Amino acid sequence: MPPAVGNVIGRANFNRPEELKLLRHNAGREEKYSRQCKEELPERAQPATIFRMNFLSLIEAKRAGERLTRAQIEAAVQAFTAGTIPDYQMAAFLMAVFFRGLDPEETTVLTLAMRDSGDVLKFPKDKRPLVDKHSTGGVGDKVSLPLAPLLACLGFRVPMISGRGLGITGGTLDKLDSIPGFKTLLTAERITEIVQQVGCVICGQTERMVPADKKLYALRDASGTVPSIQLITASILSKKLAESLTALILDVKFGGAAFMQTKSEARKLARAMVALGEQCGVRTRAMLTDMNTPLGRAAGNWLEVKESVACLEGSGPADLRELVLVSAAHLLVQTRQAKSLNGALKLAEDCVRTGEPRRKWDAMLRAQGADLGEFNRKLARDHTAAVVLELKAKRSGYLSKCDARIIGEVIRDLGGGRLTKESRINYEVGIDQLAKPGEAVKAGGTLCRIHAPDTKLAAAARQRLAGAIQISARPVKPARLVCEVIG
Ligand code: URA
Repeated sequence: MPPAVGNVIGRANFNRPEELKLLRHNAGREEKYSRQCKEELPERAQPATIFRMNFLSLIEAKRAGERLTRAQIEAAVQAFTAGTIPDYQMAAFLMAVFFRGLDPEETTVLTLAMRDSGDVLKFPKDKRPLVDKHSTGGVGDKVSLPLAPLLACLGFRVPMISGRGLGITGGTLDKLDSIPGFKTLLTAERITEIVQQVGCVICGQTERMVPADKKLYALRDASGTVPSIQLITASILSKKLAESLTALILDVKFGGAAFMQTKSEARKLARAMVALGEQCGVRTRAMLTDMNTPLGRAAGNWLEVKESVACLEGSGPADLRELVLVSAAHLLVQTRQAKSLNGALKLAEDCVRTGEPRRKWDAMLRAQGADLGEFNRKLARDHTAAVVLELKAKRSGYLSKCDARIIGEVIRDLGGGRLTKESRINYEVGIDQLAKPGEAVKAGGTLCRIHAPDTKLAAAARQRLAGAIQISARPVKPARLVCEVIG
C-alpha cells in the first residue's frame, strides 16, 4: 500500500509551525512514493485513492519529461473523471503534457482510458461494417449530413456521434437542430436500435459516453492546452473508438478557417490519428482538405441542411458532392467492399443516382423524431430568416478569393454561431448562392445572399463580406480540395 500522504489541496492552508513541519514531512513521503509509484504501481491500482494523494508526483514526472506508465495514466483518467483530482492540478498536468508531449504508447493508453471512462456502444453481430467520418471542422462543412444516409445505402452501419460548433466552425448537431422536431439527444439503446433498423444515426454523445473527454476538453479550453497533437488525437479518437468502428475516415482541414492553419500541421495531426486508429484496430485513413474557402455555396445551419438535401438529390455544389463521394469511396476501399478508389467512387455516384440515399435521409429524420411534413414545408421556402440581402460584384472578372474565416465570423455575428458555449443560435441566418473561386462574375451579378435577423445586421454583414471576396481580371485556377490522403 502506498503511504498515506496529505492531499496537496490542503497546502494553501498550512501556516502554523506544526503544520509547516507536517507539510515538509509529507513532501518527503510524496517524493519517496513518487519513486515507488513509477517502479511498483500495479497495473490496476486503486486510482481514486492513490491520485487523491499523489497526482502531484505525476505532474512533476511529466514536467521533467518522464514517460508515464499505463497504470499511472489509467488511474489519472479514472480519478479525474470521478472528481478526485482538482481542476488546477489537472490543468498543470495538461500544460506539462503540452510542453513535454506523450509518446505513441502513452497517447494510446490515454485514448483507451478516455474511451473506457464511460459507455462504449455495443452492436449485434452483422455483416454490415460499422463506419464513421470525423472532420476537424470548417465553414460550410456539412458533409456528414448527406454522407450518413449514403453510407447506409452502400451497406454500412453508421453510428455518427457528432458535436456542436464553437466560434466560426459550425457543428453538425446545430445544423440538425434546425429541422423541426429532430432529436439529437438519444440513449445508447436508441442509437443502437436506429443504426440496426435504419442503418444510420446522427446524434450527440450521451451523458455516459466518454465523460473524461468532456471534462478534459473544458479544462483544455480554459487552460490554453487545446493545440497539442497528442491531446487532440486522444480527444477525437476516444470518442470515435466508443462507437466500436471497423473503419474511420478523417477529414483534417487546413487553412484560414481551420483548426490547423497550415498543411504541414494538418499532416502531423492526420498521421498521429491514423497511426493511433490503426493501433486500436480501426482501419483509419485521413484526407487533408483545403479550408481557405467555405465548402459549398451555403453556410449557416438551416441553409446547410437545404444544401445537403440538394446534394442527396444529385444537385448541389460540386465541391460538396466531391467530398461526400470521396469520403464514402475511401470507406468502401478501407472495408474491402471495393478494390480501387475509382471503382468505389462509381459505386457511390451510382448509389446517389438511385435516389435511395434521399429516401434514407427521410427514414433517419423520422426515426429521430422529425416532423417530415413541417420539414418539407420549410424546405420549400426560399428563405426563413427575416431579411435577405444580396452582395453584388462591383466589376466583372474571376473570383480569386473567398475568405472562409471572415465569412465564418460574419455568420457567427449574425447569430448563426456561438461566441461562448452558452450562446443561443439563430438557425435561419447565414449566406447562400456564394460564388466560388475560379468562377467568372459579371459586374452587378450576385456574389452571395445574406440571410439576417434584421436590416441593420444584414447591412453590416454585407460590408464585411465585401472585404472577404476578391475579383481578379485574369482567370483563376481554384485550389484543390482534397490535397493528400494518409493511410
Ligand atoms: N475536437 C475534439 O473533439 N477534440 C479536440 O481536442 C479538438 C477538436
